[in-house]
Amino acid sequence: MTDTIPPQDIYDVIIVGAGSAGMAAGIYSVRFGLKALVLGKVVGGLLNESHNVENYPGYASIPGLDLMMKFKEHCDHLNVPIKEEWVTAAQSITGHGQHGTLYRIAAEDEAGAKHEYTGRTLILAMGTKHRKLGAKNEERLSGRGVSYCATCDAAFYKNVPVAIVGGGDSAAQAGDLVAQFASHVYMLVRKEKMRAEPINVQRLEQNPKVTILYNTNALEALGDKMLTGIKLSTPYNGSDILPVEGMFVEIGHDVQSELAAQLGVELNDHKEIKIDSESRTNLPGVYAAGDVADRPYKQAITGVAEGVVAAFGAYSRIKKPGPDNGADVKRG
Ligand code: NDP
Repeated sequence: MTDTIPPQDIYDVIIVGAGSAGMAAGIYSVRFGLKALVLGKVVGGLLNESHNVENYPGYASIPGLDLMMKFKEHCDHLNVPIKEEWVTAAQSITGHGQHGTLYRIAAEDEAGAKHEYTGRTLILAMGTKHRKLGAKNEERLSGRGVSYCATCDAAFYKNVPVAIVGGGDSAAQAGDLVAQFASHVYMLVRKEKMRAEPINVQRLEQNPKVTILYNTNALEALGDKMLTGIKLSTPYNGSDILPVEGMFVEIGHDVQSELAAQLGVELNDHKEIKIDSESRTNLPGVYAAGDVADRPYKQAITGVAEGVVAAFGAYSRIKKPGPDNGADVKRG
């Protein structure tokens, strides 16, 4: 089958995901002289939605979207090919002589047109998607008071009460941002403490427009056409109905690793892709980076580092002679 693929149509590396990890991998791959392709539905990924990034070295404070646009400018400067396409399927093709193992990728663009690509190596950097709460009526009122993106929607909630669900850094940042617009912000934290960075928690505690309700779950989104309140698991001020017009669900993310599973890439119990210290998966020539990988620290800077390490791996694999240089497969 692969004999029919002209060598000039085979990419050295196909990077799936155009977030920070994917773009970093693209930058390094192109500078290594590899024929690279970055595929991603949204250039910049979820970091686009981050209100302010305050821990990316070199930037004391920068909106996530601006940081990602700087990555994109860097890619454009180096002519890193980025296509806004979503990968729908992947398969490996083995046993065809000089090419070694190849990976066949099926993708779709916004207009629904289908495309196919072949790569000698893959870097999987598909990231994550917003986790849903599972509260009653959450889906029905989504876009009608229920939101998953504070950066996108905070300004719609001027002078009205709003709740944020979650206790991590996303929730803390959302609380901080939404309080700039809303009349009051209630943080609904299911445990007795927040797990966000202390500096982010402190900021909320010191904000007179923010009230943190611990040991409190949002059970139900209330309202007919628009959100009018939330049914709480623990009464606040004598009532289990919290009257709010906005509910931001900021409870973490689910990894988008379905494609990896389809390929036979090993996942952990959280469906994250297992990688070693050199970003290698269990498959020859397949690497993973960023939030989709099983690293404990999900930060822009760590994802970038994993993407860079993956590009080094792809580079050394491509430059190695041999029919199927699978020697780089190492699992701890
Ligand atoms: P996290 O997984 O860190 O936090 C998720 C939060 O949501 C936890 O407090 C969790 O509660 C809560 N939660 C999960 N499920 C539910 C549920 N069903 N009902 C109620 N609450 C629920 O996700 P984040 O998106 O906040 O952060 C992801 C990563 O990105 C982290 O590593 C974080 O540090 C990083 N990040 C860093 C930022 C920064 O400013 N440095 C900004 C944003 C993200 P519980 O604690 O009880 O499990």
